[in-house]
Amino acid sequence: MIAGKTIEQWLESNPLLGDLIKLKEVTWCNDGVAPAAEALPDVGLTADDVKDASARLQRFAPYIARKFPETEPVGGVIESPIRGVPFLQDALSKLKGTELPGLLWLKLDSHLPISGSIKARGGIYEVLKHAETLALKEGLLVETDDYSKLDSDEFREFFSAYKIAVGSTGNLGLSIGIMGAVLGFNVTVHMSSDAREWKKTKLRSHGVKVVEHAADYSAAVEVGRQEAAADPKCHFIDDENSRNLFLGYAIAAERLKKQLEASQVVVDAEHPLFVYLPCGVGGGPGGVAFGLKLTFGDAVHCVFAEPTHSPCMLLGVYTGKHDAVSVQDFGIDNITAADGLAVGRPSGFVGKAMRRLIDGYYTVNDEELYRFLALTERVEGIRLEPSALAGVAGMLRILAPEQSTYRQRFGMSSEILERATHIAWATGGSMVPEAEMDAYLAKGREIL
Ligand SMILES: *Cc1c(COP(=O)(O)O)cnc(C)c1O
Repeated sequence: MIAGKTIEQWLESNPLLGDLIKLKEVTWCNDGVAPAAEALPDVGLTADDVKDASARLQRFAPYIARKFPETEPVGGVIESPIRGVPFLQDALSKLKGTELPGLLWLKLDSHLPISGSIKARGGIYEVLKHAETLALKEGLLVETDDYSKLDSDEFREFFSAYKIAVGSTGNLGLSIGIMGAVLGFNVTVHMSSDAREWKKTKLRSHGVKVVEHAADYSAAVEVGRQEAAADPKCHFIDDENSRNLFLGYAIAAERLKKQLEASQVVVDAEHPLFVYLPCGVGGGPGGVAFGLKLTFGDAVHCVFAEPTHSPCMLLGVYTGKHDAVSVQDFGIDNITAADGLAVGRPSGFVGKAMRRLIDGYYTVNDEELYRFLALTERVEGIRLEPSALAGVAGMLRILAPEQSTYRQRFGMSSEILERATHIAWATGGSMVPEAEMDAYLAKGREIL
């Protein structure tokens, strides 16, 4: 029995599970999507919460600029560029023989400062928020201060009395570890078995305690949670449930809006925006999608992308069981080269909160991720880690003939699709060591 039903009963009620269990690539468009105005209150967070988070990052900007000189030219704002990728779009269209009207862009979170992945949004935000809360409470700081004063022995000593713990497949640990250690915190990162060696080495070089686990991500998170619960001075960053992480990600949308405006890209009912977001536990893509819906309303369509071996969010939302089921419960192994997405059980918060706001979900196999990895490098010169390529399949999926019902539901005529903008969220890659990247590329070129 799985969550109250036999496998036969599951296949009967949720026929897509057959292909999912066989590890075939699937695309599922969610017919439960509701207008943003109606569904946004489901989330339990508001535009004011995002504004508050954004103002907090602004307060920290002088500190960030000082500690991470690569952010100084942009005033200590941790943001990534967008880039039109016409050659990649053309190559994808030829590779699959699919017409791809509209324009494809990449959002290069791969090149976010400090930790080179989307986790530089949520992870760093939550560490900063925690630091601010402690310092305000102690009377060491007021909100109108110049926060570069945190770069002092006094503050580092104050924070060194506190601990931060997190469970991670790698990138979240990297973001929290680096930011936490720079502020002076004692940071422990519980790494799952799929975490890359270079990430552990890098963290240790920052003085972060890395605990290796033979089990997967969910187990690493659980150990971290339990250890932290026993220590009142330890703050556990809960990737499965944290509202602060979620808000850190959500800020991306207002920044993207400005970038699109600067590039003269119009987003409205006549010019829809499709955004394809690689999904692990769901906090990153969920937070970004929340921000996008607040910012662009029904003009934006958010789609989540997962590996065929780790389709936890699709499984949770499609079965309605959310975090009560794992991919392993259905015999799916959670073993993938997309290490940032190697998550077997989704966030209990995101799937439920965003149930009526996400247009669809699809899975991609590892071979395809490597193929896109090599292709993106060949035609655009952009190097990404395997996880970051999951979104690149999105435009092909949404514009495939099989999804005509979905497109009609939203009144997407061929004229409207000609004017559409598609963004694949390229979630990581710039910090991957060269030898490792060369190995990824060699593998991808072989498949290509
Ligand atoms: C973590 C991660 C994601 C997905 O974010 P979740 O919050 O786990 O859903 C996507 N890409 C990369 C590279 C990541 O590290």
